Amino acid sequence: SMFKKENIHNALTEVILLLETEAHLNNVLIEKHLYSECEHVYCDQNQLKQVFINLIKNAIEAMPKGGVISITTKTESDGVTIIIEDNGEGIPEEILKKIGQPFVTTKEKGTGLGLMITYKIIENHQGTIEVKSEKEKGTIFTIKLPFEMNEE
Ligand code: ADP
Ligand code: MG
Repeated sequence: SMFKKENIHNALTEVILLLETEAHLNNVLIEKHLYSECEHVYCDQNQLKQVFINLIKNAIEAMPKGGVISITTKTESDGVTIIIEDNGEGIPEEILKKIGQPFVTTKEKGTGLGLMITYKIIENHQGTIEVKSEKEKGTIFTIKLPFEMNEE
């Protein structure tokens, strides 16, 4: 494949720096808990950055009164887990049912493409992405990226 072993902590840190101003302006604090000791995974680093941008931007937009975004990584036996959590408004039930499908948006100027692209990219990396969300409590996206990939 065209994927290379890259440091995902570098990718996350770069994206956080990129979005920090926007977060600050919205009273959102981004907390980093980059605990994984094995931060190298086979990936297309630009695609992964796109995933992190999409999820963090959505989290900022879900907290119009401000809040905290917590980004955690940890090592599992077969890959790295990345958790992006916010304490925002939560994903509406009808959106949750259609998550990953295109043109699903609740925003006046939303495209409804961010999560579709995100899900596709993770699938291309042979990873998994799961979401848990509760109204007025917040949303947790959990991504798992494997250390080893099957040849296609
Ligand atoms: P867009 O951001 O353009 O609306 P996305 O595909 O990024 O498109 O997201 C689709 C929809 O999912 C959003 O409009 C919103 O309703 C919901 N959503 C996504 N992430 C979150 C989140 N962290 N908290 C609350 N709702 C979310
Ligand atoms: Mg979006």
